[in-house]
Amino acid sequence: MKRLLNFVLACGLAIAAWAAGNDTYTVVVSCDGLRWDYAECFDMPFFDRLAKEGVKAVMQPSFPTKTFPNHYTLATGLYPDHHGIVANSFIVKDDGKKYKIGNDVSHEGKNYGGDPIWLTAKRQGVKTATVYWVGSDVKIKEGHANYWEDYAKRPLLTPGERVDKVIDLLSLPQDKRPRLVMCYFEEPDHTSHSYGPITKKSRRMAEAMDSLLWTMWVRLKAMPKIGNKINFIILGDHGMTWTNELRVVNSNQYIKKEWNARIEGDSPALIYVDRPEIADSIVNALQGVDHIRAWKKGDVPEYLHYGTNANIGEVVVLPDVGWVFRNNTKVIAGNHGWDHTASDMQVGFRAIGPDFKVGYVRPGSFRNVCIYPLLAHLLGITPEPNDGNLQEVGDILKVAPRQF
Ligand code: AMP
Ligand code: ZN
Ligand code: ZN
Repeated sequence: MKRLLNFVLACGLAIAAWAAGNDTYTVVVSCDGLRWDYAECFDMPFFDRLAKEGVKAVMQPSFPTKTFPNHYTLATGLYPDHHGIVANSFIVKDDGKKYKIGNDVSHEGKNYGGDPIWLTAKRQGVKTATVYWVGSDVKIKEGHANYWEDYAKRPLLTPGERVDKVIDLLSLPQDKRPRLVMCYFEEPDHTSHSYGPITKKSRRMAEAMDSLLWTMWVRLKAMPKIGNKINFIILGDHGMTWTNELRVVNSNQYIKKEWNARIEGDSPALIYVDRPEIADSIVNALQGVDHIRAWKKGDVPEYLHYGTNANIGEVVVLPDVGWVFRNNTKVIAGNHGWDHTASDMQVGFRAIGPDFKVGYVRPGSFRNVCIYPLLAHLLGITPEPNDGNLQEVGDILKVAPRQF
């Protein structure tokens, strides 16, 4: 009887290991600015096909809905408040330096808190590869993924070359082959910034991304031996909305010069001051101003999960969606950064592969902090503590994950 029980237990563990995807590969593609409804508004047959043959969902980004905070949240499962990349540009509290996309400070590993999945996995003996994911070209803690590309190196790989790179990485001999590949594309974000979200140009770009990713999937599926073992996930970092020069709250009208305040960003704006009483003066000056909300960092509403990190300015100004807080009216056609619960900021999500349900349209939305535990599950590794919850996305999997 005992032997039988042991046998049943062993079978159970084997099935659990198989279900946890120990034998599978995972490719995650991020399309910057992939607004949740682009595939509804535009003609994107591959996205439609993935909805029929895989999983379709809406993913909620984290606040602020900017590129660097959210890509690093996807990688770590931590809210920006908890990993420290609190905006695309901010002041690093411990040395007073300015962090800005692509500058030297953005390449200092000490500014990146938490544990990106490529390190968590690598440490547990799982090979990983990154193609330009935010943070992946920075030496964080012990280093990089097993394979990585430097975003500072020119020329950048073209979109087609990135597809080739993903295929090449998965074509490596088994002992060198990464089990996780994370690949980044700048579009449709770039085009939507210049022309606005729902426009002919953004349509053309989103549709081009759809066919590029279709090509990638066809080539992945055709790979000998591993084609049927690849989980393929498409997601983005945030949505996109319209902006224009009429929706500007003029910061100069409210922030006095003698306050010596430094303002980073416009949607949201982080305001850095030397003395606490100036933060009070600023918040008082901004109370009741139409189209913005302003808080001292400790008073930011809880649902934004923002305000405890030392890198956040002493005052946070959050304009209404589409509005900006700045000292001029130089405004581009489209932008993002606002309240992460706003409908235009939501993100598209598709997944297909051996671990995902077929033809499942997920109701509601899930938080992007859940991607890190999801990837850990697919790779069969133990995640570091994080703000996500595998159970929140467990319903997209064929085999429900165990309750913890
Ligand atoms: P934004 O849309 O303003 O949030 O900024 C997105 C920009 O970040 C894109 O235009 C990319 O060119 C840039 N970007 C993405 N990944 C990296 C990276 N690893 N290093 C530097 N810049 C990057
Ligand atoms: Zn972005
Ligand atoms: Zn952008």
